[in-house]
Amino acid sequence: MSFLYLDYNATTPVVPEAREAVLDALGAGFGNPSSDHEAGRRAKAILETARTRVAAAVGADPARVVFESGATEAIHHAVHAAGPGVVLASAVEHPALLAAVRARPDRTLEAIPVDGSGRIDPDGVLRRAGAGVRPALVAVMAAQNETGVLQPVAELVGPLRERGIPFLVDAVQQAGKLPLDFEAPDWLVVTGHKLGGPKGAGALVVRDGVPLPPLLDGGGQEGGRRGGTEPIPAIAGFGAAIDLVRRTRDDEAKRLRVLRDTLEEALLEALPGARVVGREAPRLPNTLSLLLPPGADGAAAVTALDRRRIGISAGSACHAGARHASRVLLAMGIAEEACFRAIRISLGRDTTEDGVGRVLEELPAVVREIRGA
Ligand code: PLP
Repeated sequence: MSFLYLDYNATTPVVPEAREAVLDALGAGFGNPSSDHEAGRRAKAILETARTRVAAAVGADPARVVFESGATEAIHHAVHAAGPGVVLASAVEHPALLAAVRARPDRTLEAIPVDGSGRIDPDGVLRRAGAGVRPALVAVMAAQNETGVLQPVAELVGPLRERGIPFLVDAVQQAGKLPLDFEAPDWLVVTGHKLGGPKGAGALVVRDGVPLPPLLDGGGQEGGRRGGTEPIPAIAGFGAAIDLVRRTRDDEAKRLRVLRDTLEEALLEALPGARVVGREAPRLPNTLSLLLPPGADGAAAVTALDRRRIGISAGSACHAGARHASRVLLAMGIAEEACFRAIRISLGRDTTEDGVGRVLEELPAVVREIRGA
């Protein structure tokens, strides 16, 4: 039995188009794009092709795309650019955002609550933004990595801009799976390894006229917005992957939604007492966040499935030897005990009906096994 990978929200296999682009960049494209000779120009051409591809996929002008090492750096960069003050962020943001704010003593984090389905209330955000201390930044992710729940980002872009409040949107999970159906925020974050590219390249897309002082200054690369010689192979792979996504995303979304819904319905039937997280909300088509029935621990199910060569992830995280309930699920009002029963199954390009069938066969058996243990 081959290994069945169902953890696409963690990272994705590198698509052949990206692999080829990486190899080409490692070979003929080895030069430094800042060099004034043939090798440099070849590297520069690869860099600019990737920039154009990223720009096309997110609906921006290429000049607005700044390459970074990934989303974590891009988020830190946007928080840096926003300047000191209150950062109003959804309670379900990625830890990179929380860390970026906490690392700076002149920033304070204020959480935007989510409801039981995992969604923020845009009117509540606008009310808060207009009252009390004016936020230096509002940060709301487009799609949540654990639950797949989509946020009403489109309803915030215009009103926040009218009020002159900078807006950061982490579109890491949505970019590979659904179109970005909202106007450009001040800063938009995407990353290559979540959409079929290699690790090591992502982008911060900056709205026209919005300043972006460098986080690390150096040789003036990326229009003086990010110092450091660009990692051309990773960027080339990112560009090739996002180009493929742009062309195939709609069909893939339809295909994955059918597979996910089939899996979801069959698991709810096979596992009485199980519950789907965020089912009432608009969600990514590939993500299933499931609370297993009482008595079935999520981390134990992940381990047991791994023994059966199926890779998924648990809703709890292990830090320094202690297990913690997911901050995201707790913010949705889910009891701590139930959070420990959470698993996440995330589908992608290589997922087939057969793969879904394998989960349907193995997961109920695993749940019986761990409840009986
Ligand atoms: N934001 C979201 C929503 C994510 O899922 C991730 C990946 O875990 C990140 C940010 C960080 O991305 P990267 O690994 O490119 O730094």
